[in-house]
Amino acid sequence: MSKNLLIQGLLILLSSTGFAQVYTLPNLPFEFAAYEPAVDAQTMQIHHDKHHAAYVTNLNKAITGTAMEKISMNDLLMYASFRSATVRNNAGGHYNHSLFWDILAPKASQRPISKELQLAIESKYTSIDSLIATINKAASTRFGSGWAWLVVTPEGKLAVFSTANQDNPIMDVSSERGIPILGIDVWEHAYYLKYQNKRADYLNNIWALINWGAVSDKYAAALNDPLLKEIEKDNWLAIKDFHKVMAQTFHPAEEKNFAPLKSRSGELYAKAILLKNSTPPVSANNAGIQDALTRLEKQCLDIHQLVQKPAKDEEKKNAQLFEMITKAHDIFHEVEGLCHD
Ligand code: MN
Repeated sequence: MSKNLLIQGLLILLSSTGFAQVYTLPNLPFEFAAYEPAVDAQTMQIHHDKHHAAYVTNLNKAITGTAMEKISMNDLLMYASFRSATVRNNAGGHYNHSLFWDILAPKASQRPISKELQLAIESKYTSIDSLIATINKAASTRFGSGWAWLVVTPEGKLAVFSTANQDNPIMDVSSERGIPILGIDVWEHAYYLKYQNKRADYLNNIWALINWGAVSDKYAAALNDPLLKEIEKDNWLAIKDFHKVMAQTFHPAEEKNFAPLKSRSGELYAKAILLKNSTPPVSANNAGIQDALTRLEKQCLDIHQLVQKPAKDEEKKNAQLFEMITKAHDIFHEVEGLCHD
């Protein structure tokens, strides 16, 4: 075969592989049998080679050829509520399992807990044993499939809770947020071959495999991760609430449809009050934001009062309303800007 033909053949082979490998399956750090007796070799093999592999394959399939190819894993997760179920489940599946393999190790390869994490655990849960009991409770009461987590919250504190399916605490769909540093997989695929329906036995035994040194590394990294601030800002629910009503009244008004604003001006004002009384992200809570929130509340009150006032000239009233809602919209963006500095 000539060199040209060979190159041509290679090019055809490359272009026919289908989709780009944006994400790849990480290797398990130990042999399948190294996790015994807590978890049997066959479960480890199927869990890693089949289940985790499928999340990676399906995630790559779902994002290839879309703008999501260029988006970071953190952004895929953070805005999960805006993604398809396929992206949410498979991005979560890939992230969660990668974390799980990181923190599991046979006894001989485990490293000790850091002083910092030990102190943080003792100050919140009194002891590691009681932390384990708390996590096991979250894990055993999770109905159906999901994960139990130890996370670092936006305030830099530890918290324990569970999420369903392949969701995780980075996602905006989770009611509690933070960066996970330890996760326990409670899908049946994680334990069923050895433990069948006895999830509690699996939960008691899995702790023999937890590498507290690896969890400590994740704790230190999470405290300094800029993602923590992003989650904190994204978790300011009062501004999300206000934004929704603002968008649903302002944008129709831009098209001269004032019906939504006129029927919901009271709601807009109520959301502005709630926003003014909410706690902005710690990193953005400053005099500038408080001043803008005060002006926003006043502006929404003025709008609501004008809406309620009978008018002889409806056209004139609409023009006035548009000017006022535009100003409210500007103040809202001022708040968002101060928050995202
Ligand atoms: Mn799993």
